[in-house]
Amino acid sequence: ALMITDECINCDVCEPECPNDAISPGEEIYIINPNLCTECVGHFDEPQCQQVCPVDCIPLDPARKETQQQLLEKYRIITAA
Ligand code: SF4
Ligand code: SF4
Repeated sequence: ALMITDECINCDVCEPECPNDAISPGEEIYIINPNLCTECVGHFDEPQCQQVCPVDCIPLDPARKETQQQLLEKYRIITAA
């Protein structure tokens, strides 16, 4: 999963781009629900939020490193629900 750092300027550009509705406005900055973020695997070749973020504040979450296989499995579970 990806994560949003405190450099976020709350511009709201990323939220509508997420195919999994994983992004939402948090109390101070936007947040990503790691259980819903597939790093866009299954939908797109590149993480869409990273493509649009004007301040590049959406890195990989080091606490949630996943393989392509795990991300694809998450995609299958989300889209089956
Ligand atoms: Fe959503 Fe894709 Fe960004 Fe994850 S990488 S938060 S799935 S847009
Ligand atoms: Fe924050 Fe970047 Fe999303 Fe804008 S695009 S709300 S700066 S994470």
